[in-house]
Amino acid sequence: MNNCQMYINGEWCDAASGETYDAINPALGEPFGTIPKGGREDAQRAIAAANEAANSWRKVPLWDRCAAAAAVAEVLGQRTEELRDILCTELGKPFHGEANDEAGESGTPWMVAAEQAKYFEAHTKPCADAAKRVLTFHQPRGVVTCLTPWNFPAAIPGEYLPFAIVMGNAVCWSPAPTAAATAVELMKCIAATELPPGVINLVTGPGAEVGDELVVNPGTHAVGMTGSPQTARIITARCGLKPRLFELGGNGPVVVLEDADPQEVAPCIAAACYYAAGQVCSCAERIFVHDSIKDALVEAMVAEAGNWILGDPRDKSVNMGPQNNMGVVDKMTAHLEDAIAKGATVVAGGQRPDRPGFFYEPTVLTDFSIDSLVNKEETFGPIAPIVGFKNDEEAWAYIDACDLGLSSSVFTKDVDRAWEWAEELHAGITVVNDWPHFWEHHLPFGGMGSNSSGVGRIGGRHTLDFMSDLKTVVFNVGPPSV
Ligand code: NAD
Repeated sequence: MNNCQMYINGEWCDAASGETYDAINPALGEPFGTIPKGGREDAQRAIAAANEAANSWRKVPLWDRCAAAAAVAEVLGQRTEELRDILCTELGKPFHGEANDEAGESGTPWMVAAEQAKYFEAHTKPCADAAKRVLTFHQPRGVVTCLTPWNFPAAIPGEYLPFAIVMGNAVCWSPAPTAAATAVELMKCIAATELPPGVINLVTGPGAEVGDELVVNPGTHAVGMTGSPQTARIITARCGLKPRLFELGGNGPVVVLEDADPQEVAPCIAAACYYAAGQVCSCAERIFVHDSIKDALVEAMVAEAGNWILGDPRDKSVNMGPQNNMGVVDKMTAHLEDAIAKGATVVAGGQRPDRPGFFYEPTVLTDFSIDSLVNKEETFGPIAPIVGFKNDEEAWAYIDACDLGLSSSVFTKDVDRAWEWAEELHAGITVVNDWPHFWEHHLPFGGMGSNSSGVGRIGGRHTLDFMSDLKTVVFNVGPPSV
């Protein structure tokens, strides 16, 4: 059994209440350890420790703060085996595939933050008054709350934590309860460096208590959250005027125009639907294909679905693990039933296999209606809903019936058509001729403004921006003006 602790002020500890909850292996549906069930008191201790640490951490030279982030990257590089193991146990990520990918990449954002902060320049500003010299520079915000989801529990904390600390902030971090053991493993890597106590604190427990305290408490000064739009709305109502960075859900449209080759694009689209068992914000969640090549694409997608093998995630032949929790399975079931009731047809999968754990077969669905849940909401499961269109207007009507707009893809050989779609699609990211998952840690990523996929941009200098206040200093070089 893996009995985890949280990390506050440089020390491993249990919840003040002494309470724990079970960590569940989703491939078996059985407990493999315990997690401290923290509450408001634990969050308050973390906030106090972070404020104390922030006072001195902000004065540590930038180059030394960057070295601290780089040191974490180095430890993560040495401990990929431990991370790979817990990602497989707690998330059911295939040991030889997705768990390996995520563990191997976990150090990258720490290195990117360490590199980019050194070149994150502010400016001197010309102004009308000849007696003034105006400078701007970046200052830390203070204590940043970081709330992370379960689907990439080693990677996504890296999108916040290192960027916060290189800018001189301290952090109170709370992970999703169903991925907290991975967070603890990541924290062990951070704690193995010489980062001063209190600079990064990890508090496990329910979001509605620990997360809420970290949001409402006046001792935190900004909130970064990756998760669902529903949680983002609650936080927005609770956080007052604190700056927010929200990376939320998607319902990725993939558009296949008439000149695309169905055989060539099907493996890529299937991978975009089934990688991580469809539990990726930038998944292909809806596929719109020109009527002239629809049948060929459906046939190719059914064949591709057969290449995604469910089973024990430690088995080398397995490339699709379980869903993270029963809530995800239930949502997938509800979306399928709703689509079928509204006229869609299941042409591959569509069932839970007869084995323990939270598995769902890779599914291909055709002819879903515009008002079905798969079109209007994020499913977050291994599903490829396909519908044909006869002209762009028909495809637009479907796409715009959903309020989410994160990642998207367009497949075409026609450059003019590619530009037209890339500029018009209501999504923060459009990838031409590849899967919608493409991203690197220095690139901007996020939902298109005024939809439900997010607020702000994460990635490189965009995260550094969020993690700092821009200070303006005005020097008067003549006599006082009044
Ligand atoms: P979630 O909204 O349930 O939880 C996200 C975080 O918020 C967790 O740390 C949780 O503990 C915390 N939280 C929950 N309720 C809270 C409350 N009342 N107050 C404060 N904090 C609270 O999301 P999830 O189920 O963990 O993650 C899945 C969602 O995340 C999906 O919608 C997915 O698309 C999205 N996601 C987005 C991105 C992106 O980059 N845009 C990346 C990964 C996942």
